[in-house]
Amino acid sequence: MAKQEATSVKGFEYLQAELDQMKQEGTFRNLVPIESEQGSKVQINGKEVIQLSSNNYLGLTGHPRLREAALRAVEQYGAGTGSVRTIAGTFSMHKELEEKLAKFKHTEASLVFQSGFTTNQGVLSSILTKEDVVISDELNHASIIDGIRLTKAGRKVYKHVDTEDLERALKETQDYRKRIIVTDGVFSMDGNIAPLPRIVELAEQYDALVMVDDAHASGVLGKNGRGTVNHFGLDGRVHIQVGTLSKAIGVLGGYVASTRTLIDYLIHKGRPFLFSTSHPPAVTMACDAAIDVLLEEPELIDKLWDNTKFFKQGLADLGFTTGPSETPITPVLVGDAALCHQFSDKLLEHGVFAQGIAFPTVAKGKARVRTIVTAQHSKKELQEALDMFEKAGRELNII
Ligand SMILES: *Cc1c(COP(=O)(O)O)cnc(C)c1O
Repeated sequence: MAKQEATSVKGFEYLQAELDQMKQEGTFRNLVPIESEQGSKVQINGKEVIQLSSNNYLGLTGHPRLREAALRAVEQYGAGTGSVRTIAGTFSMHKELEEKLAKFKHTEASLVFQSGFTTNQGVLSSILTKEDVVISDELNHASIIDGIRLTKAGRKVYKHVDTEDLERALKETQDYRKRIIVTDGVFSMDGNIAPLPRIVELAEQYDALVMVDDAHASGVLGKNGRGTVNHFGLDGRVHIQVGTLSKAIGVLGGYVASTRTLIDYLIHKGRPFLFSTSHPPAVTMACDAAIDVLLEEPELIDKLWDNTKFFKQGLADLGFTTGPSETPITPVLVGDAALCHQFSDKLLEHGVFAQGIAFPTVAKGKARVRTIVTAQHSKKELQEALDMFEKAGRELNII
């Protein structure tokens, strides 16, 4: 067959100009295709490198029980569901997963969305009106910010993890019908944990709701990875817990764990839930198996934390600046965006995949190479990675 030429149509010159500018500044990035399965090592450009950029905290993407559950699901139920949840796309397996998640999170009910991103969008956009106000940490995840953009509710942004500033916002918003404080449980770019005990105390004092997005805490913090709410002993005092099934859980999806009332409301009003097709059987059953793994193989979480301590200490000993991280997310601060991407490229040359992250994902001048160790890494691999950080860091005068 003759090769079909790609067609081109004029009109995007204004976007190309911006991209050219980024290329000039050294901030244009190509996607990096991985040619192997996810793991402590991956193949990139035909070469095996140590993976320090995934959110696969516990190595569940390739866990035998998840693989087996996914295969069994395809064999028994096929590849897709053929409908949105509210019409003909709710299978008994979806209900079973939601019951398991609710039990796991110690809440009355839970509801699964297509992703963590759509969960935040769906929850925030549906439960607030112009009579209400949302009070948000300034470094909350983009999906929270977008969820807030979709509401007509009032907005207050408080300084990052600053509970005095949060209290000021609470004092200024006493005239609204409902107030909701929303925060990441673990902040995805710095790896620090939200001051939840104080946030909950303030919420109770000022009669506000609390919503916590535990995308990076589920499977990582709390008993068996139940998240920051459980980690701080705040079960029953946080109104809405959002989690993702795409990070430590190893598959894809998001969920909200809360009261029966909130879940019933979202089933009727949550737009991504109402207007987008449900998870395929393989995804649903692999997620279900992942929760069993969390409950039955807690040693994975112990290994994750052991590796975290080892790697953080190693970076600190080398003289890198890693900021306020308290979790397996360890940013290596570089500052300048172009230098940061150079650092990341050099690391890849030496054999470690650690992506540079710059504006707009983080503030200008705060570019960093972000690392996340997993339970799958051996100490030997982590030591090798540290040696490569040292080499690349010296070559670029970062240390
Ligand atoms: C990754 C992330 C999400 C989005 O989760 P996905 O399931 O990947 O869509 C939401 N919130 C936070 C804080 C995250 O880090």
